Amino acid sequence: MKIIVAGAGFGGLQAAKMLAAKGHEVTIYERASEDEIGYNCFDDVDYKIVSDVGIKLPEGSYRSEDLTLIPPFTEDNITVSVPQEQRPWRVNRRKLQTQMIKEAVAKGAKIIYNTACRKLIIKGDKIGGIIAGAEKEKIYCDFVIDSCGITSPLKRSLPDEFDIMKEPGEQEYFSSFRGIFDSYPDVPLPKQKNKLFVKFMGQSGFSRVIVEPDGKIDVFISKLGKMSRFEFETLFRQLRIENQFIGYEDLEKGRFAKIPTRFPLTKMVADGYAAVGDSAFMASAMLGRGIGDAIKGGQILADTVIESGDVTAKSLWKYQLTYFRQVSAERFAYDSMRRALFASKSDEIRFLLEGGFLSQEELKAVILGKGLSSSAGFVLSKFSVGRRKFKYYVEVVKSLSRGKKAVALASQIPNRYERGRVNSWQSKISDLYKD
Ligand SMILES: Cc1cc2nc3c(=O)[nH]c(=O)nc-3n(C[C@H](O)[C@H](O)[C@H](O)COP(=O)(O)OP(=O)(O)OC[C@H]3O[C@@H](n4cnc5c(N)ncnc54)[C@H](O)[C@@H]3O)c2cc1C
Repeated sequence: MKIIVAGAGFGGLQAAKMLAAKGHEVTIYERASEDEIGYNCFDDVDYKIVSDVGIKLPEGSYRSEDLTLIPPFTEDNITVSVPQEQRPWRVNRRKLQTQMIKEAVAKGAKIIYNTACRKLIIKGDKIGGIIAGAEKEKIYCDFVIDSCGITSPLKRSLPDEFDIMKEPGEQEYFSSFRGIFDSYPDVPLPKQKNKLFVKFMGQSGFSRVIVEPDGKIDVFISKLGKMSRFEFETLFRQLRIENQFIGYEDLEKGRFAKIPTRFPLTKMVADGYAAVGDSAFMASAMLGRGIGDAIKGGQILADTVIESGDVTAKSLWKYQLTYFRQVSAERFAYDSMRRALFASKSDEIRFLLEGGFLSQEELKAVILGKGLSSSAGFVLSKFSVGRRKFKYYVEVVKSLSRGKKAVALASQIPNRYERGRVNSWQSKISDLYKD
């Protein structure tokens, strides 16, 4: 089969390696040049996910430090202790991406750099290839794997009849800045090496300041939806005031990017097409599991195609079904929690984090992506603390119950691809989030 992997994203690369190893003719089209692929920084990666699919962590990877949560408008902080073996690894993104490209090429895939994928070629109900490069070349194939990330122009070129959501909603992605800085001379580095500022300055977003083992400072600033230059500069100025050890030398040309923060696409396949990774909204920004989940998605996609030998929506549905069963359901609970968190006022967040509402164990569960229980026992056990802010307590209970409903709906994903049933399941899920 002739397969195009659009974008050398982590999900697409994993699929490319597996499919090329089975003798398929795989070509990866990547917009960036070979030297500029990825970003020279460390990201949190769940070791279990990558080791399960046989990926070795690149040299220099290290276990992250305990996370310190800082509620808005306070210098207070809560360090959540997680046993060393449960903490994510900090992995150099560029090294991992380059290593995965080499592995895919070693299995027979081809990669063409400096070539932006622009549009899908659509023949009736089927995807027949892509239009790519400065010359707008038409490249035909049997199957397109869309691994171009959240702003994929391919997904955007799909007609509405395909029922595949093209863009995340306004409150379903973070606008983010990421920069690596030197440390400011003579200012001592903090004890907390991994700080997460929740709703920093009361804005709907979060920021992180991480001191890497070599003393470089990784600065991350985000806001739900659009972030203006003025908003970014205000946030960064204040972050510097509160973290005076951040130096002024921008070592890796800071970058702005979007990150999805919602549940994955409820339809990620069509005849001859599958979205994977951020283009299928697999990442959940606050969990730091976008890389791992994209890789897992790529592996499931390749397994599905190898098993069926077919790329119709009907056959590819198994990819989506398996991904939902293994990963997505819990994402729905997390998504409800994230929506409630960012709708909370600053004093309510302080109450959650430091007012005794959530215990260390519960915070740990949230950080590890396990979410909170929505059982009657949990809700009752929080009543004596919760009644101090009764209205907010009721909101928290409502959001937990909405999360439970969302998980139940997500797990009702149709076993087989029948358009009517899939559409009706999709609309039930979107109705849940219509306020
Ligand atoms: C600032 C920041 C910090 C993050 N931190 C973490 C973290 O700590 N841990 C974590 O797991 N995740 C993190 N994420 C999320 C993570 O980066 C993504 O979830 C993950 O990279 C998704 O991979 P992907 O397979 O979708 O492809 P991407 O990594 O999005 O890669 C897409 C690739 O496609 C290429 N491309 C894009 N458009 C085109 C086009 N039109 N034609 C051809 N090529 C194209 C790009 O150049 C890129 O190589 C972070 C994201 C950001 C922005």
